[in-house]
Amino acid sequence: MSPSLPPLHLSGVVLPEGEHRDVWVREGRFTFEPVPDAETVSRGGWMVPGLVDAHCHVGILRGGGHAEDLSGARAQALTEREAGVLALRDCGSPVDTRALDDDPDLPTIIRAGRHIARTRRYIPGLGVEVEPEDLVEQTRVQARRGDGWVKLVGDWIDRSVGDLAPEWPADVVAAAIAAAHEEGARVTAHTFGTDALPALIAAGIDCIEHGTGLTEELIGEMAARGTAVVPTLVNVENFPGFAAAGEKKFPTYASTMRRLYANSGAVVRAAFEAGVPVFAGTDAGGGIEHGSIAQEVRALHAAGLPAEAALAAASWTARSWLGLPCIEEGAPADVVGYDADPRADLDVLARPTLILRNGHLVSPVDQVT
Ligand SMILES: [Zn+2]
Repeated sequence: MSPSLPPLHLSGVVLPEGEHRDVWVREGRFTFEPVPDAETVSRGGWMVPGLVDAHCHVGILRGGGHAEDLSGARAQALTEREAGVLALRDCGSPVDTRALDDDPDLPTIIRAGRHIARTRRYIPGLGVEVEPEDLVEQTRVQARRGDGWVKLVGDWIDRSVGDLAPEWPADVVAAAIAAAHEEGARVTAHTFGTDALPALIAAGIDCIEHGTGLTEELIGEMAARGTAVVPTLVNVENFPGFAAAGEKKFPTYASTMRRLYANSGAVVRAAFEAGVPVFAGTDAGGGIEHGSIAQEVRALHAAGLPAEAALAAASWTARSWLGLPCIEEGAPADVVGYDADPRADLDVLARPTLILRNGHLVSPVDQVT
């Protein structure tokens, strides 16, 4: 953010309020006070607070568990930005991407350190693998390494059982979650199945990733506690493929994954209707392409969230959950512009006409009028 940035002017409908307003950008920040000599970069469109991908990974090579080098990680962050994502919650990366924070044009990355998984119970090479007696200490290490989040792998296939199973005893996850909270970090956990969830939720975990195994009872408990869920529906689309790949050796696992897939939309709808905070995350990195946020928003809508709530889950409610401001006086000017109302047609999200990051016009430069 440089003080030499030229002042800008935008005029259009500001979301979530839905009021037509004139907004200026001075020294990279929003102001509602007219700024002389500002260049008008947008008129008559819709202005959405910078989109959020609440679950992705920067630094994981697509299709495998290996670490990208830093230029690969930068390319992934740029791909998110092209989709209008100006902040992302990195739910575990084997790569130290701190150097990317020096570039004010890249999305804000809110890190959860490295995944913490049980030994040989996760994708090789991605996480830190420990046995239960070391979970609390490792949770403290990752809490200090991240930006206010820790990511546990809550369940994974247990080959000795032939099905999904919890990775940790209940008392150990409870101690780990308490330790993270003492360190000032929130905790989230990967879960596909049901059995790991009661202990995590009862221990006061802050968020559940995927959450395909949530039951009505657990959803009620999450709603009462304010525990969030990031369903990553674009990744859940892969469940039938996971089932097919595991079918021969692990038929019980395969049928579990098919059942979870079949219920996934209903779970998201039930969580939303019960008042569980639902946020949009793509799980990009590994099996999912970066820049898929519009697809996830459409999937949330298809599962039963009203269009405006699905959009909010990738913008203003997600920003507030992560402690990020929206389009407000003095806030960093992070905004995505559209030439039609995305609340009326979510397909519009795939076609941003303007992206400002920290008040800098980053895309698409050639469409400015
Ligand atoms: Zn993930």
